[in-house]
Amino acid sequence: MKKKLGLTSKIFIGIFLGIIFGFFIKNMPDGTLKNVILLDGILKILGTGFISAIKMLVVPLVFISLVCGSSSMGDIKKLGRIGVKTFCFYLLTTALAITLALGVGKLINPGVGLDMSGLVTQKTTIGESKPLVDMILAMIPTNPIQSLASGEMLQIIVFALLLGTAMSIVGEKADPVRNLFESANEICMKMVSMIMLLAPFGVFALITNTFATVGLEAVASLLKYMLAVLFALFLQASIVYLGMIKCFTGLKLKPFLRKFAGVAAVTFSTASSNAALPLTIDSMEEIGVSNSVASFTLPLGATINMDGTAIMQGVACIFISQIYGIHLGVGSLLTIILTATLASVGTAGVPGVGMITLSMVLTSVGLPIEGVGLIMGVDRLLDMARTTINVMGDCACTLVVSNMEKELDIDKFYSEESQIEAV
Ligand code: ASP
Repeated sequence: MKKKLGLTSKIFIGIFLGIIFGFFIKNMPDGTLKNVILLDGILKILGTGFISAIKMLVVPLVFISLVCGSSSMGDIKKLGRIGVKTFCFYLLTTALAITLALGVGKLINPGVGLDMSGLVTQKTTIGESKPLVDMILAMIPTNPIQSLASGEMLQIIVFALLLGTAMSIVGEKADPVRNLFESANEICMKMVSMIMLLAPFGVFALITNTFATVGLEAVASLLKYMLAVLFALFLQASIVYLGMIKCFTGLKLKPFLRKFAGVAAVTFSTASSNAALPLTIDSMEEIGVSNSVASFTLPLGATINMDGTAIMQGVACIFISQIYGIHLGVGSLLTIILTATLASVGTAGVPGVGMITLSMVLTSVGLPIEGVGLIMGVDRLLDMARTTINVMGDCACTLVVSNMEKELDIDKFYSEESQIEAV
């Protein structure tokens, strides 16, 4: 009997073929076929088109599913409790992530003995750090329609929560609107499944492009820095997240990891927590997390919880300080922990933003911004890995909070069905 390949397997085949084809294109002579027809033509349509298609769903999906989630919460106190717990977990895991990154950075010393000064090619602009009061005020939308139109995630979250909570308080009279949102939610999820059918092709094109343009030479000179970041990301995933799930829930890790593999394929190839968000919500609901928790914690996580980004920023600070021979004392290290946590809140879930908020962290401890120019060349590859950790952190916290709140369907978590691909 012929066995049909699942979506995740197809995506992984796309990644594998993308790597091979990427190296093939890199070695092709420059010309119309390589630059115009392949890189700026077919691959661009497939790769960028896939990301745009999935991004198209982010705002409607977050808004609609959050309204549904909070309106069906019933118990306002419960929503508040989930909010506080999620927020605490997110902040805690981010602070742990940077501490881990600083430790790994000090252990591996990626910048010691390396002369990178010749590689400084690009000056970066200084990222302004917003005062905390402004950051809080910026979360309140003065015009929710405008927030939706411009994709201001935090403002959308605040408005959706308020709307859903009001619907929950109004009760039966809000049923027509609730039904409308619930049906819109179903439709959004179907659209996600339809777009995900294109994922293997989109992923193939994105990976091909990365390997064809970045290549190995650029990577080689910064290998030690990259290894340090990857090692810290690995520790965060295996010790902090899996340890946290084991300690707080006692659940087996395999069902979670199997389900997360599909999400990881998308985060890895798109380097965008936002782009992966529809699939992340879908996958967590498939392993038993209730819609009311998943639709709240995951969009919030994709917006404010960027542990992988914080890790890159921690290692980058050590690396840059070593290259420029600047000593970082305990005070500076503490400042890095604080500012990188804030930078993580302020980093949008799209490719490359972590590099921009890094300049805010560097300035907070007086490190030269030019350092960003050094690591920019290899950032795309690291962005793929750190985005995966960013999203894994959201999923791990979601699992823990839903289990604490008895919003996790344990039978579904272990059921065979939840292992089967969504599409
Ligand atoms: N690409 C990351 C994300 O989407 C953010 C970043 O670190 O640049 O989660």
